[in-house]
Amino acid sequence: MSKTAPSRPAWVEIDLAQMRKNFEIFVRDKPDPLGFIGVVKDEAYGHGMVKVAQTAIEFGATYIAVVTVDEALTLRQNRITGPVLVFGERTPAELEICVRHDLTCFVNDVENARRLAKVAHHLGKSAAVHVEVDTGLSRHGVRWNHALPVLKAVAQTEGLKLEGVMSHFAMSDELDKTFALQQHQRFEQVLAAMQENKLRVKYRHMCNTGGFLDLPQAHFDLVRTGILPLGVYPSQVCRRIPGLKPIMSVKARLAVIRELQPGDLVGYGMRYQATEPRRIAVLQIGYGDGYPRVRNQGTVLIHGQRAPVVGGNAMDAMMVDITEIPQAQLWDEAVLLGRQGDAEIDVHELAKLKGTVSYDVLAGWRGRLPRVYLPDN
Ligand SMILES: *Cc1c(COP(=O)(O)O)cnc(C)c1O
Repeated sequence: MSKTAPSRPAWVEIDLAQMRKNFEIFVRDKPDPLGFIGVVKDEAYGHGMVKVAQTAIEFGATYIAVVTVDEALTLRQNRITGPVLVFGERTPAELEICVRHDLTCFVNDVENARRLAKVAHHLGKSAAVHVEVDTGLSRHGVRWNHALPVLKAVAQTEGLKLEGVMSHFAMSDELDKTFALQQHQRFEQVLAAMQENKLRVKYRHMCNTGGFLDLPQAHFDLVRTGILPLGVYPSQVCRRIPGLKPIMSVKARLAVIRELQPGDLVGYGMRYQATEPRRIAVLQIGYGDGYPRVRNQGTVLIHGQRAPVVGGNAMDAMMVDITEIPQAQLWDEAVLLGRQGDAEIDVHELAKLKGTVSYDVLAGWRGRLPRVYLPDN
């Protein structure tokens, strides 16, 4: 067994050297004056929030962004002292924590701006804020055609510093950019109105990874990249950057090997029956670890070959057919996500099996599955 493997014979492996390469490639690819926000919410989509944040900072991230105040506090506890942006809306109790820990939050209405200013005044501080403009996602933010009065009020509120204005695309990574371009136009209208009213902000930002790749006209001052440095593309059709590679693999060892006799059944629900002698292996990983709950569907890589899943997989175990891989032995490594030899199971393949998107597959590996970090030298 390799010395990096944990004692549990199933784990997530993160290649930190490749993450560093991905950041290098991203920084080289982007136009020079364009800055970026390192988005590391939800444990950087299951890759490890603090490690990804530290690397993003090394490569010049203007902000690190998360979604919950707890995530932001974890960054602070890990000595990330620079600008941290917290996406979404904040409760009054959260506003106080944001001011105390110098977390940059959003205020998207006049009432919350007043509330935050009061908290800041009470603590003898001023608070940097961003305003989110809703240009069509209908999620967070003030509707584009009502944004100017809010922006004015925030800019004029003593104790607040209007540092940024942003919007977010509903669809930036598919071929049809019609709605994305309409959202971009709406955001441009808001920016033009701000200029007429002499409202200045340091940072205007609109693009996630899809927008960064495919909508250069919407880059503005910063792009918000989450999935890109992880080496995964948001869709199958967006622009590719040569050299970028996924850094997450999921692996398990062959914990049992058994010979099936004709007529033997495999797994819960008796979904597989051998019609001839077959050799199967048991992997101690299942849907309780985040693998899709499949029946006789999907494959894993063993000795660079595809071994089909047989039977219904369980919370803690799954069976794979290794009849065609005679060299397979007990405790050999199986790859459930990632590369082995020339073969690869990519995240989009697992997403299809799970009926979901790549983001959900990456972030969906549960906490009980150990993380192993391959060193970045
Ligand atoms: C998650 C998130 C991002 C990052 O999106 P990627 O597609 O992973 O780059 C950017 N902006 C906001 C507001 C987000 O919530």
